[in-house]
Amino acid sequence: MCRHAAWLGEPRSLASLIQDPEHGLLRQSYAPRLQRHGVVNADGFGMGWYDGTLPEPIRYRRTVPIWADANLPGLARAARSHCLLAAVRSATVGMPLEETATAPFTDGRWLFSHNGRVDRKALRPLADDAESTCDSAWLAAAVFARLRAGAPAGDVLAEVVVRAGGGDPDARLNLLACDGASIAATAWGDTLFLHLEDGVLVASEPLDDRPGWQPVPERSLLLATPDGVRVQPL
Ligand code: GLN
Repeated sequence: MCRHAAWLGEPRSLASLIQDPEHGLLRQSYAPRLQRHGVVNADGFGMGWYDGTLPEPIRYRRTVPIWADANLPGLARAARSHCLLAAVRSATVGMPLEETATAPFTDGRWLFSHNGRVDRKALRPLADDAESTCDSAWLAAAVFARLRAGAPAGDVLAEVVVRAGGGDPDARLNLLACDGASIAATAWGDTLFLHLEDGVLVASEPLDDRPGWQPVPERSLLLATPDGVRVQPL
């Protein structure tokens, strides 16, 4: 499983998800603490953020391990936003190693990431095409098509997870999406945590050992907006 994290709240830098916390995504790329599938997350990484002057998020993704990008710490420190998303990848066996298979995927104002794996046959009925043959890229295409059609993010994630999970009972479908004003995420087969502060942090596993990290129950949907956080069963 890959590891992902997002923030919605008072502006902060991407370094707050990656290299500043003791167990941020940089550390999780080589020493995750709760990862059940895969050992390291060295098959690429990506991050996205919102700059108030641009209509769409800025997305940066690469196929090298996150620790191998010497420019990343400076970029992550300079990229500040009220809404952030970042991910490190452990490619599932059989999935391509390429930038187009690496989260975050993006469409319009949306950023999207996936922890897990799913049989691509279970995704064929959900999307027409994707930028990569990677299962996560197909999930992103299924999600983006429904968001473009105007469906609310919570409904979209719930529908895609329930249908993909129905087609593959062994699927692991932890999805994470944000649009600059909200975060939607699912826990389906892997861990997910949230931490409330001057905003909400959502992450596959805690980024540090501060008290207050709450596990999101298995098979549930999390919705975060500036008004608060809701968690409901899927
Ligand atoms: N299956 C996806 C991929 O290959 C996600 C992998 C993961 O969560 N480890 O990239």
